[in-house]
Amino acid sequence: MNTFQKLEIWFVTGSQDLYGEETLKKVAEHSQHIVTAINETKALPITIVYKPTVKSPEEIYAVCRDANSTANCAGIISWMHTFSPAKMWINGLKALQKPMLHLHTQFNRDIPWSSIDMDFMNLNQSAHGDREFGFIMSRMRINRKVVVGHWQDEEVLERINVWMRAAGAWHDMQGAKFVRFGDNMRYVAVTDGDKVEAEMKFGFSVNTHGIGDLVAVINAIDDATIAAYVKEYEAEYNLVPALLEGGAQRQSLIETARIEAGMTKFLEDGNYKGFTDTFEDLHGMAQLPGLPSQRLMAKGYGFAGEGDWKTAALVRAMKVMGQGLAGGNSFMEDYTYHFQPNNSKVLGSHMLEICSSIAKDKPSCEIHPLGIGGKADPVRLVFNVAAGAALNASLIDMGNRFRLLINEVIAVEAEEALPKLPVARVLWQPLPDMKQACASWIYAGGAHHTGYSQNLTAEHLQDFADIAGIEFININATSTTQSIRNELRWNEVYYQLNKS
Ligand code: MN
Repeated sequence: MNTFQKLEIWFVTGSQDLYGEETLKKVAEHSQHIVTAINETKALPITIVYKPTVKSPEEIYAVCRDANSTANCAGIISWMHTFSPAKMWINGLKALQKPMLHLHTQFNRDIPWSSIDMDFMNLNQSAHGDREFGFIMSRMRINRKVVVGHWQDEEVLERINVWMRAAGAWHDMQGAKFVRFGDNMRYVAVTDGDKVEAEMKFGFSVNTHGIGDLVAVINAIDDATIAAYVKEYEAEYNLVPALLEGGAQRQSLIETARIEAGMTKFLEDGNYKGFTDTFEDLHGMAQLPGLPSQRLMAKGYGFAGEGDWKTAALVRAMKVMGQGLAGGNSFMEDYTYHFQPNNSKVLGSHMLEICSSIAKDKPSCEIHPLGIGGKADPVRLVFNVAAGAALNASLIDMGNRFRLLINEVIAVEAEEALPKLPVARVLWQPLPDMKQACASWIYAGGAHHTGYSQNLTAEHLQDFADIAGIEFININATSTTQSIRNELRWNEVYYQLNKS
């Protein structure tokens, strides 16, 4: 998967005609220089494209309109090198539908102490030009990311990098299609929600196919295709003896390959970016897709179990944001607890479907009974997950708004072997500590299903939430249960009052 390669971010410099040709020529030169130099660092995942300086309401409107109608434009970086009276921006900003990063920078890093004169002062005005621009964005209540610092500062590039990933994921989500094989798990609340509101808010659609539609595709897969999948399994995983050629359960591996090939064909033919399934609706399928879901996730598809379309869409967005970074992103569930004093932790897993992109070592391909659903034993990948900083993210429907909830965690190695646990697993210590993190999560209504990330930070998800215009709550090292409860109360009022 590489969805960033075809995208571009536009670099738009604001000014006005007042300055005269000489100054405007310098402004254009400086902006082009910055764009070229930043692209040459190769530090950013999406190419920045220079756009000519905008100096009038008409030019500003035109660039915003063009950004909207340019399919591969994922967002705009704006910068006011000189003063650009911001009433000129109102109509353009009213029309703009792409994410914006306001880069509050300056061409020169230092004040040239011995040579500075009024010509220099006239040219290098972002210190006040960007404030005028910031005012109109705030006055119009437009979400944007503000990044401050010299454009050669690595930390500035990192802030832009994070936002670009969020903007790229947002771009990927517009018009994205997700399919549910079967409906929601019966009676479950948090995995349900308003799909119409979600499509209006996020731009993706979710539709359900009866499992029979998928089964028909699975049953039409030919033997050569199945054999090719089995060959991949043999190359990529350590198969347990029962699944090897001549093994007692070899036929189950062949059935798994048939299911994966069928699901892949269904997803490709329908141009879907993710899917859900449910163990309650597998009519005509031999097994719950374990290995197939794990592998499809690793290829970039969003996935969640039990019809949880919000988490499937979130996992897809997280995979897009994490492209090219070390580590992976997976569907996850808070499964069971270790409540040892001073060493409390969560064991995260699912019935089967943890993405192999977060596997620490070569996964073991195994077959075990599934004590739920009444189907044949499903094949699955079993592995551990590396220790290190990570996070869990949950997207929930609060009725009047969507909430993106994050908990920063520290993944840890298992202290003991888990010889009888037949699923992929990860252990983590939630921040700030087990009791406050879990209490905060529960007060916030966070789901048991999450997207687990090794390579995204809270900033990626906050930027994404800001672009989407949804609520963002982060439970991290500086949180307390009380601070989160207060934030939830204040947000409740904010979202009742702010209907924009
Ligand atoms: Mn589940």
